Amino acid sequence: MAAEAATLKPRTFPRKLFGGTCGVAKLGEWNGIAPSGSIGDEKGKSMRETVRKLTATGIALLYGLWSVVAAHGYSFNQIVPDVRDPVGVSGGSACPVATHQLIGPGSFAVQWSTALSTNPQTILTSDQTPTGRLNEIEQVIQQSLGAWTNVAGSSLTPSSLGPLARVTPANSCGSDGLNTICFDQPDMAFTPGVLAFTRVITADAIGIQVGSGAPSTQVGQILDADIYFNPSDSNVIFATPAALSANPKAYDLESLLTHELGHALGFSHSAVWSAMMFPFAPAPGTFTGTRPTAQKPDGPLADDDRTGLRVLYGDPNDRHTRVPSRGVSCRRTRCPCQRRQRE
Ligand SMILES: [Zn+2]
Repeated sequence: MAAEAATLKPRTFPRKLFGGTCGVAKLGEWNGIAPSGSIGDEKGKSMRETVRKLTATGIALLYGLWSVVAAHGYSFNQIVPDVRDPVGVSGGSACPVATHQLIGPGSFAVQWSTALSTNPQTILTSDQTPTGRLNEIEQVIQQSLGAWTNVAGSSLTPSSLGPLARVTPANSCGSDGLNTICFDQPDMAFTPGVLAFTRVITADAIGIQVGSGAPSTQVGQILDADIYFNPSDSNVIFATPAALSANPKAYDLESLLTHELGHALGFSHSAVWSAMMFPFAPAPGTFTGTRPTAQKPDGPLADDDRTGLRVLYGDPNDRHTRVPSRGVSCRRTRCPCQRRQRE
């Protein structure tokens, strides 16, 4: 874990906040989480009963609870199976399950909408040509994905990624079973101060299907994760790394996207100051961590993020960094799941 003492230092918080996702409200730190099962735009009552929609959260209360949450590093969104269902549906355990992507070759596919807001123009790039703008933004997406897929000791690797696809509709984010990044899609979650958020749909049973996605094979499996960037606030401008220095009032697109991808992978927020999953965005004109390089593509992440990733997507072949799965320890010792989370 990264040094937790750092989280106790006084800090002048950036004004703007990340939106985020939150599966289980812990310590009352989340403000604005949707009620369980509050999935107004989902189809069908049965889906309401079996799918949790983890929606945007504000974090204003984190100020007041800072001393309470300071000891907690990385954390995950979690789902509690309903053991009243048959074992083949519930998985047979009542322990909370960390939400996660299904990991296998090409299993984590992401698409992004090439529709960009022009009034205001919210994504600033160095290359102003239409083709150049898209290529520059796509490079940011690839580098942000690369931060999470190049952590040693994790089973999430570059081969876990599906092809990065482009789609044209602005409103491409929705409950369709596809992981999508949208830069020009309005949403009611964009309350003042929210720069971006991730909306995740997770299966709390086996056999749940969302849109065109395959039925879930595991409890806690993330079936749809969509990342929204605020498209309509003239005070909220994002810049690619190449354009950031020339636009010091813009927020670093790469840092925000890397953070939101953490939510798409199952992370909740971390109270560790230096962590990518710390819920406050870096100040305008600055970025989180260090820029990725070919030698260190996971540079933007902190050790807290890396440790969390190894827990969530452990590499069973890595004897040095392997972390026992929570599922195993849960069954053996009757759910010390919450305790392990803080190790
Ligand atoms: Zn967040």
